[in-house]
Formats: sequence, structure tokens, C-alpha cells
Amino acid sequence: MAAEIISGKELAATIRNNISSDVFNLKQVGIVPGLTVILVGNNPASRSYVTAKEKACQEIGIRSTLLEYPDTITEEFLLHEISRLNEDNDVHGILVQLPLPKQINELAVIEHISPEKDVDGFHPINVGRMMTGQDAFLPCTPFGIVEMVKSKQIPISGKHVVVIGRSNIVGKPVGQLFLNEHATVTYCHSRTTNLKEITKQADILIVAVGKANYIDSEYIKPGAVVIDVGVNRLESGKLCGDVLFEDAQKVAGYITPVPGGVGPMTITMLLQNTLLSAQAVNRSNVKG
Ligand code: NAP
Repeated sequence: MAAEIISGKELAATIRNNISSDVFNLKQVGIVPGLTVILVGNNPASRSYVTAKEKACQEIGIRSTLLEYPDTITEEFLLHEISRLNEDNDVHGILVQLPLPKQINELAVIEHISPEKDVDGFHPINVGRMMTGQDAFLPCTPFGIVEMVKSKQIPISGKHVVVIGRSNIVGKPVGQLFLNEHATVTYCHSRTTNLKEITKQADILIVAVGKANYIDSEYIKPGAVVIDVGVNRLESGKLCGDVLFEDAQKVAGYITPVPGGVGPMTITMLLQNTLLSAQAVNRSNVKG
């Protein structure tokens, strides 16, 4: 039997409806959740991500502001702009679209964003809080993945989660979030020697490699949950994931498609984090 599809698009629509009514409620008490996105340079992929984020904000009533700068700006200038946003009470979330030009140190920029406004969840304070199981802004893609698995009531505790990929934005944090949910977690990467042997043990397999159609049915335990994070553009212009979908679907129990899987959930969790930030401001206003 073919695997059941976990549609990120459908789940995202449901969550966005809920966010939208919470945004409405906040507006009743005078708070308009605001996200400011900084885009440096003219990378077409970055621009299309930023456009999608802006559109999603507008649809649910979050005020989104785009600040665009040429790729010649200095790190000092960018840090100064972030300081200004950190102080601005109308800004609840600050997102700097990566990658940044070479003359700018990305880590310095991320660390400069106030952890209370770090809706991407990349600031070391939020990463540390996530690792120690405290309240934190969770990084959007990993956060969305966990929500997708939970949406199907798939058990996580005690299950073996295998993550292929160890990037700071996807691989490492997604493994940590599943560990926080009491899974047994194994990380694989480009130096892993027996990849197939390990992935075949996974109850939940998360693929974040960045290589088109790299994982086929031979890497998958029958009935496993397969989450495809990859976004690859083929020469034909078509988008595909890191998993060979039709083949994997014959073996897996659940599978996420590309497009319409993890991607829409990533943006949704950004909206969720922006809402959470604005709600925290409201709570502290109420406390006085
Ligand atoms: P990345 O920084 O390039 O990391 C790729 C990871 O895959 C690395 O850890 C690398 O290992 C590992 N890897 C590469 N080749 C491998 C192989 N042959 N066998 C096993 N592991 C291998 O990429 P990323 O930022 O994590 O993103 C991964 C994919 O997800 C990309 O396609 C990206 O576009 C997509 N993505 C999607 C979303 C979304 O919202 N849908 C969000 C973020 C990223 P080493 O560490 O040893 O180099």
C-alpha cells in the first residue's frame, strides 16, 4: 500500500487560520504583530523566499516590513540597523535572510538580533534554550517538521529518528527537537560510511541533504515516516526533494511531498513565532 501523504500545505492552512484569529485578538488590545525582514543583495532565491514570507504575513494580518540593502553594505551598517530594530516596540520579529555577502559575518549578525525578536530561532541563546528544554523560539523548519509528525498522531517517544544532514538550520536542531520528544536520535552526514544500514533502522527518517532524489526505497524501512526537507530545482525547472518520491512511497508508511510538504510549514512556523513574540509583549504589558 502506498504511503500516506503528510501535506504541509493543508496543515499550514489550518495553523495559519488559528494564527490569524490570535492576531485579530491581539489587534483588539492595540498590538499589531510586526515582522521586519532584511534582504541584502539580489539573490533570486532569497528574494523569492522573502516575497513568500511577506505574502504569508499579509494574508493573516501580521504587519511585514521589508528592508532592502545593496550587497555592498558593511557589517557595521547592518549591525546598526539591527540595533535600531531591537529598540523598536512595533517590531516583534527580526529576520535577516541568509546568505549574506562575504564581507559580513553571519554569526555576528545573528548574535546581534535580540533573542526576544529572533523569530528564526538561530540566536545561540535560543539554540541553548532549545537544547536545555526551556522555552525558546524554535527554528522554523525543524519546528514545522515536528508539527507535521504530531499532526498524524505518530508516536515519537522511544522511536528511532535518523537525520541525514547536520546543518545548523535543519539537521542539528531537528534531531534535538526529536530528542526533546524522547526519541532515540542518530545523525548521518557526508562522512557517514554505512548510510543505508543506518537509515534502514529509522522509524522516522528526516532527509536534509540538498541532493535531488538522493534517497530511494532501499534506504527506507517498510512503514517508516519519511520527511523530505530538500528543495532542489531540476534542469527542467521542476522542484523536487532529496527523496525519490514515487519509489519511496511504495515502502514508507507516511511521506511528505515536495513541493507542498516542509516548505509551507517553515513559513507558517515563522508566523507562529512572530505571533508568540507579540503575545509575550502583551503579557508583559498586562503585568505592567
Ligand atoms: P546543507 O547546509 O548543505 O547541509 C547538507 C547536509 O547534508 C550536510 O550536513 C552534509 O554533510 C550532508 N550530506 C551531504 N551529502 C551527503 C551524503 N552523500 N550523504 C549523507 N549526508 C550528506 O543544507 P541545509 O541547509 O541543511 O538544507 C538541506 C536541504 O534542505 C536543501 O535542499 C535545502 O534547500 C533544504 N531546505 C529546505 C527548507 C524548507 O523550508 N523546505 C529549509 C531549509 C533547507 P556534511 O555536514 O558532512 O557536509
